[in-house]
Amino acid sequence: MTQTRTVLVTGGNRGIGLATAKRFADQGHRVAITARDPGDVDSRILAIPCDQTDADAVDRAYQAIESELGNVEVLVANAGITKDQLLLRMSDDDFSTVIDTNLKGSYRVAQRATRTMLRARWGRLIFVSSVVGLLGSAGQANYAASKAGLVGLARSMARELGSRNITANIVSPGPVATEMLDALTEDQRSAITEQVPLKRVAEPQEIAETILFLASEGAGYITGAVIPIDGGLGMGH
Ligand code: NDP
Repeated sequence: MTQTRTVLVTGGNRGIGLATAKRFADQGHRVAITARDPGDVDSRILAIPCDQTDADAVDRAYQAIESELGNVEVLVANAGITKDQLLLRMSDDDFSTVIDTNLKGSYRVAQRATRTMLRARWGRLIFVSSVVGLLGSAGQANYAASKAGLVGLARSMARELGSRNITANIVSPGPVATEMLDALTEDQRSAITEQVPLKRVAEPQEIAETILFLASEGAGYITGAVIPIDGGLGMGH
């Protein structure tokens, strides 16, 4: 990316989000992150507490970013949670909390971002989905549904906003070495790795690189794409 942009990475205090925020900062961009409890991540990065299940909190976060760094030009909708459970044991709350955070939360932050992107006639919306959104995953009906929903959301935004030079794309990671994966047992982790053609999990930086490309001027003709970064796990989907 040649031009310096204002970038918001949701869920940017650890894992994929933090790796992505740092890479944008390395390139000289103005970077903000949100999380419920962001802490102090990096002196170059503006960290703002924001629970994206709350529309007012999302609006307040944008106001803070706008006054400190300017209007958001690149949004990486990355924040997400899991609440895994077999279908018959899954509670209504397990299902709706994951949808409200991962899908509706991404909708909230993306809808707010477009307010200023439309005026600027330039914007990049990048949604972090998951290979399981299209593959499905036993014990993750809530999570897989939320991640599949992001595809319909992003593609609808791509159609609605394309004439204003705003792109909307999806990255679809396979297993990545973050706290989310740490929650699995050693047996679960090796069973997943075994299914990956590259026989390893990804490092967060490997997801960040593709996100940076999608935000760049060079990716200006890519919209509505679902880009797998999964070591081949989801091939054909
Ligand atoms: P982590 O669990 O390490 O980080 C999740 C981030 O989301 C944290 O910053 C967390 O901050 C934030 N977050 C959670 N709930 C909310 C909320 N309500 N409002 C605002 N922020 C919130 O996850 P990863 O880095 O592993 O994952 C990042 C994204 O990548 C997620 O969407 C995940 O589904 C996806 N992904 C991950 C894969 C993996 O194997 N790790 C594979 C495929 C996709 P806080 O808790 O402070 O709110």
